[in-house]
Order: sequence, then C-alpha cells, then structure tokens
Amino acid sequence: MSKRHPNPRLAKIHRNYTVEEVAGVFGVHRNTVREWVKRELPTSDGRRPMLILGHDLVAFLRARRAKNKRTCQPGEIYCVRCRAPRAPAGDMADYQAVTATLGNLIAICSTCEAMMYRRVSLARLGEVRGQLDITLPQALPHIDESAQPSVNSDLE
Ligand SMILES: [Zn+2]
Repeated sequence: MSKRHPNPRLAKIHRNYTVEEVAGVFGVHRNTVREWVKRELPTSDGRRPMLILGHDLVAFLRARRAKNKRTCQPGEIYCVRCRAPRAPAGDMADYQAVTATLGNLIAICSTCEAMMYRRVSLARLGEVRGQLDITLPQALPHIDESAQPSVNSDLE
C-alpha cells in the first residue's frame, strides 16, 4: 500500500490524535493531514492542539479509499486523463491483438474523450466486456473460419 492510500486500520478508534500523531501513524506529511482536515476530516472544535478522533479518522479514510477505488468493472476501461475507470463512448471498443492470446481494448472515454487502453487476454475478453460492443480485427484467427477450407485451397 502506498502512502497515497493510507490504511484505515492503522488508526485506533478510541484514541485522539494530534495532526503530528496522525502524520506519524500513516507516514505522511503534516500538510497532508491538514489537507484531510480541510476536506471534511472532523476535528475537535476550537481546542489547541487540534485533536482528531480515531473514530472520525477511520471513517474518513474508509470513505476516501472507497472513492479512490481504481478497479475497472466489466465494461469499463481506466482513463488516464480522468484518473478513473470510465465507460467507453457509445459502449464501443476495439480489440487490438498484441500476441495470439493477448491484446488491448481501445476505446474513447465517454467523459473526456481521451483514448483509453486496457490490456486484456483474449481468454478473459468475455469477462471484461460487460455491455461493450467489441470490434475484433478481421485478421484475428477465428475458430469457425479457420476450420473451413478457404476458396483458394478448393481451387488448387
Ligand atoms: Zn476520461
């Protein structure tokens, strides 16, 4: 776990923390903790030093973590520009083969219109596609087609 995603379990619910202590527990800078306070982390009002209830700290970090979840659901691709999983525009994506078993899903972000890429194995394409309309390149070998003799071989 990186410092950008502090583990809520490190805080003890029944303790009060100063900003310095919170910084120490999570290995982050004091300014980071002050930033949390600005963004809705409650503190004891008007007291010096300012105290943060462990209970509030845990709740804040849990909520923050849930919001930061980066996991793509089926039908979503991570957009680097939005920094979040997004549904492709028009629910359309192209599959571009990298190897026989591995490729990239390429789509346009429905929110910011940036190109999005998701590495996916051909075997897992069904799992990640969700509601997406995926265009496979013509050149991709298809089981049904390759099982049939081509017109050329019939003529030979
Ligand atoms: Zn985007």
